Amino acid sequence: MSIATRIAEAIGRPQGDKHVTCTHCGHDLEVARRAMSISCPYCNKRLILEDYKVDSYYAVRDFSTSGDIVVEKKGHVVAPIKVANLTVKGKVQGAVVALGEVKLTKTGYLKGQIAAKSLCVEAGGFLDAFLRIGDALPSTETASSGAAETATPPAL
Ligand SMILES: [Zn+2]
Repeated sequence: MSIATRIAEAIGRPQGDKHVTCTHCGHDLEVARRAMSISCPYCNKRLILEDYKVDSYYAVRDFSTSGDIVVEKKGHVVAPIKVANLTVKGKVQGAVVALGEVKLTKTGYLKGQIAAKSLCVEAGGFLDAFLRIGDALPSTETASSGAAETATPPAL
């Protein structure tokens, strides 16, 4: 490769690592700053590290990144989202799991679920969701219908 590339790599390496959290298994990982995706050494799943900006209609079955997602005013995401930080200026429909903050701006619209460390809704933002805000994040799926199999049934 070119000298410039090699210098950039040499400079980049000492400060180049960053910490991310695996969106699949929740382990903390150290990854190269410029990496776009890696294979998680703990769960072996592909882990996306990129930041996303969405400014159009985007419907998928799984929208996961250890980076941040910004849904712009014209953006409309219909998907389950796993992300570090989510900023909603447009529309989001789906279940959101954020390791950091979910933020709705004054033009933001979110319908679905949110599990996040913190939540910020500006005046004017629309939020219609089941919320779980705080540190206790579900490790995998939030739905656990088998939880009723405990020794003490609820007294009615
Ligand atoms: Zn993992």
